[in-house]
Parts: sequence; C-alpha cells; structure tokens
Amino acid sequence: MADTYDLAVVGLGALGSATAWHAASRGLRVVGLERFDLGHENGASHDTSRILRHSYHTPAYVDLTFAAYEDWARLEHDAGAPFVTVTGGVDLFPSGGAIPPEDYTGSLLARDVAHELLDAAEAMARWPQLSLDDDVSVLYQERTAIVPAARGTGAMQRLAAALGADLRARTPVRELRPTRDGVDVVTDAGIVSAARAVVTADAWTAALLAPLGHDLPLTVTEEQVTYFAPADPNVFAPGRFPVWIWMDDPSYYGFPTYGEATVKAAQDCGGPVVSADARSHEEDPVMRERLASFMASTFPGSGPATRSKRCLYTLTPDRDFVLDRVPEHPAVTVGLGAAHGFKFAPTFGRLLTDLAVDGTAEADLSAFSLDRPGLTDPAYEPLWMV
Ligand SMILES: Cc1cc2nc3c(=O)[nH]c(=O)nc-3n(C[C@H](O)[C@H](O)[C@H](O)COP(=O)(O)OP(=O)(O)OC[C@H]3O[C@@H](n4cnc5c(N)ncnc54)[C@H](O)[C@@H]3O)c2cc1C
Repeated sequence: MADTYDLAVVGLGALGSATAWHAASRGLRVVGLERFDLGHENGASHDTSRILRHSYHTPAYVDLTFAAYEDWARLEHDAGAPFVTVTGGVDLFPSGGAIPPEDYTGSLLARDVAHELLDAAEAMARWPQLSLDDDVSVLYQERTAIVPAARGTGAMQRLAAALGADLRARTPVRELRPTRDGVDVVTDAGIVSAARAVVTADAWTAALLAPLGHDLPLTVTEEQVTYFAPADPNVFAPGRFPVWIWMDDPSYYGFPTYGEATVKAAQDCGGPVVSADARSHEEDPVMRERLASFMASTFPGSGPATRSKRCLYTLTPDRDFVLDRVPEHPAVTVGLGAAHGFKFAPTFGRLLTDLAVDGTAEADLSAFSLDRPGLTDPAYEPLWMV
C-alpha cells in the first residue's frame, strides 16, 4: 500500500469504478474506497440492465451520448467482452403529455441523428406487442441499446485492479480534509493521503460535501424495477421488441428480454423519498400494482409480475449531472449521475479523471457545475420529468 496516492476515489459504484479504471490506465497511483462490499446492492449500479440511447432532451446531452457509445466500445475492447446490446428504442409520447416530443426530435435533428416518427397505428403494426391510443406519437431510434449494470461495473473494477489500482471494500470515508498538498481522506482504518480526490458517492454525496461548504439539494428516492413473465418470451426478444420509454408523468420505461425469459420495467421517479442509510429494500406493492396495470394495458402480452428489485435515485433539482471540481477546494472533484448516469459511466470516468488531474476535460461541462442555479438557488422549482 502506497502511503500517498495520485488519486483517491470515494465510492466504487459505476462512476467511481470507471474513474479508477481511467486513472489507473493513465498510470496514476489510485486508491478506491468503498463503504460496502464491491458489487453490493445498496446503491444505484446493481441489477441487470440500463438503457444507453442517443434520444435526449437537449443537443448537449445528445453530444455526450456519442462519447458514451465510444467509451462503452473502449470498455468492451479493454475487457475483451461485449457489453452493448443494440435493440432499438421507442419513445412514446401521449399528446399533451408532460414531456414534449419536440425536445427530443429537435435535439436529434440538431445533431443529425437518424430517427423515425410513427403514429400509433404504424407503431402497433411494427410492434404488435404494443397497445396504444391513437393520440400517442412514437419516436424510434435504431441505436438504443442495453448495457449491463452490475456486470459492467464489475468489469471496470477488474480492469482498474489489473492496472494496479488499490480497491478497498468495507472502507467508509468519514471526511475529506483538503491539505496544502492535496487531500487527507479519513477512514475508519486511518488516513489516506492523495494529491486529488474524486467523490462518486451518489446518494451519500451531500454528507461528504457539506463540510466542504456545499449543501447540495439532493433528493434520494427508493425506486423499484419489476420483472414480468410473458407467456411467450420470444415475442419480447431483442430484434422483435425495443427498449421503450413512456414520456409522460408518471413516466415508465422497460426492456426486451435480457439474459432471462422476463421483461423488466419500472416507473421513473416513482419511489418514496428516503435517506440512503434508512431504506427498506422491500418490494412496494403499491408501486408494483401501478406498474403492472400500466403494463397490462400497454403491453398486454407482458404477463404477470414475478419479482422486484429496489435501487436508489439521487436527483438534482434540474436532473442535470454534477461534474465539477469544488471551487474552494480544487483538489476535490465531484461526479453525480442524477439518476440517469449509468450509460455515461465509462465517459464520466474519463472526464472526472481529466478534470481532477488536469483541471479541464474534453467536453463542455459548464451545465454540470456545482454553482449553477439548479443547485444554488433555493427558489429553484425541481423538474425531474425531462
Ligand atoms: C432503478 C434504476 C434504473 C436506472 N436506469 C438507468 C438507465 O436505464 N440508464 C442510465 O443511464 N442510468 C440509469 N439509472 C441511473 C444510474 O444507475 C446511476 O446514475 C448510476 O448507477 C450512478 O452510479 P454511481 O456510481 O454514481 O452510484 P452508486 O452505484 O450508488 O455508487 C456510489 C458508491 O459510493 C459508495 N459510498 C457512498 N458513501 C461512501 C463513503 N462515505 N465512503 C465510501 N464509499 C461510499 C456507495 O456504497 C456506492 O457504492 C438508473 C438507476 C436506478 C436506481
């Protein structure tokens, strides 16, 4: 164990594991500190699948998705394993819904991303699994894909360790103490000194940032995904059934079959507000029934609910990420995915490493700064349905 490190990563979920991988691949001496076991299921990066897509509500996000596809390809190359399952994706917009289709079509057009617009009848002809009212418009983007949550995070941890990163499980960080030379990271096992620290602690971020003078207005919710058992799972297989997102409030999303004869679905921002350390992990029957009734009417063949999994969302008021150095303590950099960051994890690892070490990053991260109005204006009205 080195006595001082070039970089300490606090939290080894998807974002922290990606940062450790990128930093170690740059030849840095890296220590990763995780409060639970590696691969635990107490945060936001576990379970089977996550959506990777180009279709986003602003051109700037669409730009970032191109980097995401490239960085997933780099991970596949370095790990020598496939992680991206392209399925195509449909965004379903009921007319007058809470999420305007123009934000999505406009952003894809602005960035020249091929897509198709279908009406409900055309979509049901193409995907007979769908049952839609006439007023639903459908945006199809062919590159939408599934990436593996736990498996992808584990691969980045293995790559980081193979490149010499010192990943320590069951090592909760109690405090970050900026020093003249960097940061002293206080753990129960003692102090770890590093020239730089990257905080990727998602639902636990606010507690670590407050002593550094930043009271982040984060909302943590306990979300629930549920698996359904279609009578004929082949009908919902990739190639025959796309990833889908219902663009309204409530908003739902789901997947074709992925490694098992079930289809997974969930409500976006449907869970109760919790504290990261006081949550149930128990299935919520009300959330389950709400989703099951939506599934039965929109995907009549999706079958009964079989099991559920809980997972934490950490929401900023504007649902934008945090990718920034702490202005008063530039040796500390923060990365937070605002409950839609998994698809960008390999990219965030690269950008957070560059930001922490060089003070700059390849992408324009101004929208993700710590001192933006969405994080600093107490009157800011939260907007999570984007
Ligand atoms: C149900 C669900 C569905 C989602 N679907 C998608 C999707 O389809 N596409 C997408 O892009 N995103 C999706 N997301 C969001 C995405 O999963 C998260 O944004 C992403 O996983 C966050 O990764 P993370 O590493 O920041 O967080 P986490 O995985 O929670 O990692 C934070 C880590 O920090 C550790 N930690 C915290 N405090 C400390 C401390 N003091 N000391 C040491 N370690 C500490 C925690 O134990 C944890 O391991 C979804 C999230 C959920 C919950």
